[in-house]
Amino acid sequence: MDYMMLVNKDHPLFEAYVPSNLEEVDSKYKENILLESKTLASFKKLQEEALKQGYHIDVMSGYRTYSYQDKLYNKLLKEKGFSYAFRSVALPGRSEHQTGLAIDFCVYKDDKCYIEHEIENLEETKWVHENAHRFGFILRYPIDKEEITEYNYEPWHLRYIGDKATYLYQNNETLEEYILREHI
Ligand SMILES: [Zn+2]
Repeated sequence: MDYMMLVNKDHPLFEAYVPSNLEEVDSKYKENILLESKTLASFKKLQEEALKQGYHIDVMSGYRTYSYQDKLYNKLLKEKGFSYAFRSVALPGRSEHQTGLAIDFCVYKDDKCYIEHEIENLEETKWVHENAHRFGFILRYPIDKEEITEYNYEPWHLRYIGDKATYLYQNNETLEEYILREHI
């Protein structure tokens, strides 16, 4: 498994790409969520550490198949039009969720579940953004990097990359910047 793999609008995955080591997530949000096994193990550690601060985070979305992404994109395209859909949801094959290495997390607080932009200003979110790198995760679509990632800010989307996460965090680099500079 290449934990540094770059998947974006310019670097798509094959339709048939399915990660080999998927595991079922024990999530309160939803049943039948799957994640790549090391990604899941690392998220559990992040989750435990968050709990020590009194923060309840969980997985709301993990692995997505090519065909699921296809449906998601076309639904949004119909509802909101091209420019919105293109910046908000990946085309099939261009979603990191197909790698099994991406997690959309949610926050439980005051008997409510906060998702997507609802988590933006929560202290839990700030904590996750500052500490996820210690467990191998990066915030994949940061607020000031839209031109590079070609995605709007997604405070909920984490991507497991392993050891290099702290380097990227400390240097405020996206995966695109790191990979295109280091390896091409
Ligand atoms: Zn996501």
